Amino acid sequence: MAELDVYPPDERECTRCGRRDVRDGETGHWRIVTEDGEKLAGDPFCVHEWDVTGNYNPFDPGD
Ligand SMILES: [Zn+2]
Repeated sequence: MAELDVYPPDERECTRCGRRDVRDGETGHWRIVTEDGEKLAGDPFCVHEWDVTGNYNPFDPGD
């Protein structure tokens, strides 16, 4: 846990179709979120527009 300054987001959501991915900590690849046994894969023809959620904030004003 030495790299605390900048780290990539570990969750993202498409603002168009609602698809949700989480980053696999071991492979670093995006993985589709599964909720209640259903993959939140969204629209396969969507040009995904990712809205990164979670704590990632590279522009923290820091007061
Ligand atoms: Zn989408």
